[in-house]
Amino acid sequence: MAGRLIDPKNTIELIKKRDFGFKKRFGQNFLVDERVLSRIIEGAEITKADSVLEIGPGIGTMTEALCEAAGAVKAVEIDKELIPILSETLSTYSNVEVINADIMDLDLKSLFLGPFKVVANLPYYITTPIVMKLFESGADIESVTVMVQKEVAERMQAKPGGKDYGVLSLSVSYYAEPEIIANVPPNCFIPRPEVSSAVIRLKRRSEPPVAPIDRELMFELIRAAFAQRRKKLSNSVANSGGLGFTKEQVALALFDMGLDPMIRGEKLSLSEFSELSDRLLEMK
Ligand code: SAM
Repeated sequence: MAGRLIDPKNTIELIKKRDFGFKKRFGQNFLVDERVLSRIIEGAEITKADSVLEIGPGIGTMTEALCEAAGAVKAVEIDKELIPILSETLSTYSNVEVINADIMDLDLKSLFLGPFKVVANLPYYITTPIVMKLFESGADIESVTVMVQKEVAERMQAKPGGKDYGVLSLSVSYYAEPEIIANVPPNCFIPRPEVSSAVIRLKRRSEPPVAPIDRELMFELIRAAFAQRRKKLSNSVANSGGLGFTKEQVALALFDMGLDPMIRGEKLSLSEFSELSDRLLEMK
């Protein structure tokens, strides 16, 4: 390639030369804004000591910058039509490996020998499953710096009580400290997405901020609370048959915690969900 792909002229030229057709089903919106790209690389705090996983390199726009900043890069791309294009655009870099796979099928623990960082302009159709897989995989991930739909970024960093607060906010806060580091309008991509975007950095915590006796029960309570978020927490939990707690048991546990027994789940913090799960466990 004569010039950087982040320059829209070069991206358009390559797409035409290769007769590449964008696939909506893979969430293909390629970044063409230099300032946003620099913000992502800076925000991810990448150095030559780092190994980086990029999810969905596309034609290699962000990969070029990652190869220059990081020690080693692995880029996982689902679209096999992009693989020969990536061989061309990344031919000058010897520290990158492109893997043609669905990120959801990969064993993340075996990708690198040591810790690694994740950087990506994520496909929006599958953002939440990818982020949850990254954290739940058990892989040694230091941080996740990703472009996502703006609303999703706001849900990830929402605090109790607000309309954006929910399962995603609580799950993210269990694993990481989230921070939105850039807002990105649709004209920074080709083709333009219908929604606004944001870059969020999720710094992995060394230890979760809570340690419930039964972690799975805590997450089941969280899911039950937000499956019926307009209802009182005691009703949502009792209505969730599989959990096996009565409305009265939940109300009593909330009362013992000094909370209003009629409270809705959207008001509870992660540590309150953790305490509630421990108290309910004692009542079993
Ligand atoms: N990184 C490029 C950029 O910033 O210009 C492309 C980003 S584009 C929003 C998302 C990329 O993820 C596309 O290249 C798409 O083909 C790829 N992709 C979509 N689903 C995927 C999956 N399940 N596993 C791996 N890659 C995927």
